[in-house]
Amino acid sequence: KELPADSVLENTRRQVEKACFSFVNPKKTAKPEMIHVSPNMLDNLGLSNDDAQSEAFLKTFTGNAVLPNTKPYAMCYGGHQFGNWAGQLGDGRAINLAEVEHGNNHWALQLKGAGETPYSRTADGLAVLRSSIREYLCSEAMNHLGVPTTRALSLALTGDQVLRDVLYNGNPEYEKGAVVCRVAPSFLRFGNYEIFAARQDFKTLKTLVDYTIKHFFGHLGEPSKDTYLAFFSEVSERTLDMIIHWQRVGFVHGVMNTDNMSILGLTIDYGPYGWLEGFDFGWTPNTTDRQHKRYRFGNQPNIGLWNLYKLANALYPLIKETEPLEAILDQYKIDFETKSLAMMRSKLGLEVEDALDASLIQNLEDNLLLAETDMTIFFRKLSDFNIEKPSESIELIKDAFYVSTEITEEIQQKWETWFQRYAKRLEQEQTTSEVRKENMNRVNPKYILRNYMAQLAIDDADKGDYKLIDELFQMLKKPYDEQPEYEKWFAKRPDWARHKVGCSM
Ligand code: AMP
Ligand code: MG
Ligand code: MG
Repeated sequence: KELPADSVLENTRRQVEKACFSFVNPKKTAKPEMIHVSPNMLDNLGLSNDDAQSEAFLKTFTGNAVLPNTKPYAMCYGGHQFGNWAGQLGDGRAINLAEVEHGNNHWALQLKGAGETPYSRTADGLAVLRSSIREYLCSEAMNHLGVPTTRALSLALTGDQVLRDVLYNGNPEYEKGAVVCRVAPSFLRFGNYEIFAARQDFKTLKTLVDYTIKHFFGHLGEPSKDTYLAFFSEVSERTLDMIIHWQRVGFVHGVMNTDNMSILGLTIDYGPYGWLEGFDFGWTPNTTDRQHKRYRFGNQPNIGLWNLYKLANALYPLIKETEPLEAILDQYKIDFETKSLAMMRSKLGLEVEDALDASLIQNLEDNLLLAETDMTIFFRKLSDFNIEKPSESIELIKDAFYVSTEITEEIQQKWETWFQRYAKRLEQEQTTSEVRKENMNRVNPKYILRNYMAQLAIDDADKGDYKLIDELFQMLKKPYDEQPEYEKWFAKRPDWARHKVGCSM
């Protein structure tokens, strides 16, 4: 109600001026079928399992019915894509249904893949089953890993066929259409602010910023220049914290365009994301970014900062002073150093701070790059490190090496040297090895959604078998626990999946 709405009530694709959103109803689908519902999200919304079985639930969350007294809408935003200003983008295939207050929490419900909007540009507003499975599983998995993220309530088939590719012979290739209902306190992105600054529509910009502060940063107080700065500072902090979590678990977002940066510091838009298998700062899952690798693993913290510069530019018209904005951006760099060091210490089970920790970690990262070494398996196994027998530790981590013949004498020697140093360093710690192990296992996940695992679930689902989606979903609820029944998923990526990468559409 507080934000200016688009006055044109039609959804032809166009530039939408002086409005934060456009009303648009989801598209009816041929044969909706619910595939999976997140029990934890149901709970958060105050819904029961019975509710989830109902016809109304199916219709609402596939876009076939609009809840009474609600007016679905798509948001207007712009963004910098791969470093360039792209103009108006907007919710091209997302439609906000309603907002729910429950148990002191506020949730916005949004369908992804429910048809065209004024922001669909040249695309169809739809989503296919494979990308929907990837978004559904990963957003819930990230939540259970303790990474700030948008959530997912449901995954459903629409019963429609969606055209995604035209084959070399000119024949169209259709895929199954799907809709995910995703959930977050808000889906506002950096790009929502950038679009009004770019159009010099400072009135709407101020309305949107004031709205954001009032509803999501209420503790910052009434709108004023200082409040805007405090707001920018908090967004900056949350963005950094989110990215530090990504680095901790080996998550690579893949498309960190400013339209995919949540103003609440939530991981948003699960497109071509991927998980590190071999530890590699240069890796990106995004096949369209293979040349410049802008969004590679090791560059994510820098890109977070780059994106915050763009947000600072967008907020500048309300602040009209560069120095305090620059001070906040400089603070990001300082905080990055301390927070990433603290995060790496926690992965190594170090509680005491030692001046040489940065060098210990640098040596470790150098070693991890010597031969393809699985990040998740390495850190998980390291919690069993025996301080008495550092030279036997290469045996402990051997499962993390992808190609055992690559592990030359020289590499073994380098590992032995590092293990000796680590053992020496652990002598400074006060905790027992049991407690150290518990602490490490709380930050080093055992189960992640490796790309090939999502792919197996997708292949089965394409044939109508959804058991694997459920199995992965259940396992990923407890990524830090030992779960003997899922031990087979605590394993390296199989050879056949080596060059398989993520998908985006
Ligand atoms: P993304 O690369 O997923 O962040 O998307 C960038 C922009 O393209 C956003 O404005 C999306 O809403 C839009 N978009 C992506 N896929 C589709 C689609 N199938 N139909 C309409 N718009 C889309
Ligand atoms: Mg996006
Ligand atoms: Mg996307």
